[in-house]
Amino acid sequence: MAATQSAVPILAPAAIPAFKCPTGTKMHILNLGALEADESWFLRGANASTLSNPNPENKRRKLALLSCLIEYPGFGLILYETGLPAAIKATGNDIKDVKAVVIGHLHLDHAGGLEHFINTGVPIYVHEEEFKHACWSIATKADLGVYLSHYMSLEGLKWETFSEPQLDLFQGITLHHSPGHTPGLCIMQVNLDKDGTFIWTSDQFHVAENYELGHPPWRSCQRS
Ligand SMILES: [Zn+2]
Repeated sequence: MAATQSAVPILAPAAIPAFKCPTGTKMHILNLGALEADESWFLRGANASTLSNPNPENKRRKLALLSCLIEYPGFGLILYETGLPAAIKATGNDIKDVKAVVIGHLHLDHAGGLEHFINTGVPIYVHEEEFKHACWSIATKADLGVYLSHYMSLEGLKWETFSEPQLDLFQGITLHHSPGHTPGLCIMQVNLDKDGTFIWTSDQFHVAENYELGHPPWRSCQRS
């Protein structure tokens, strides 16, 4: 399978400032709640013992869970990662009106909810490496169980995979293959006319320190 680029004409590559979403595009940030866990899951060296502090406090950290919904003139609703029906409702829209889903990576906390799109014909855009890794993980029960079969319907979902390192999916919306947290993770660049460029990083950076200190995030590629 290969992603088609026919939905909206491609006019220019992402690096050119004129490559912007059309006037009238709206991007909603969906608040999906918070996740709390031991800080050492996200930050290298966090909570590690030292000679002078052999029993450090196990600090915990709350992470905001966000996804986004884009109202794209002439096409309709584009959902980046799955969100929840209630979060979409809060924007004045309905999950039934979503026309395309873009997945950064297929872990359960980013792709759980894809079951809402089974047998709808809505295209699910995901990098080929991510799709293969998720299928392997589910089939072998490897990778700590962070991919689950109930939302990974092979028959019922309209998977649209792509293998390019960069894909201009719509004018002003570009996906960048950024392996690290998972082999097929894609970040999404959205160039808005007035508000500028937004980069949706999926789990490439769980906390700001991953980016600022150049520390890699938790890597989900090991066999368990
Ligand atoms: Zn993840």
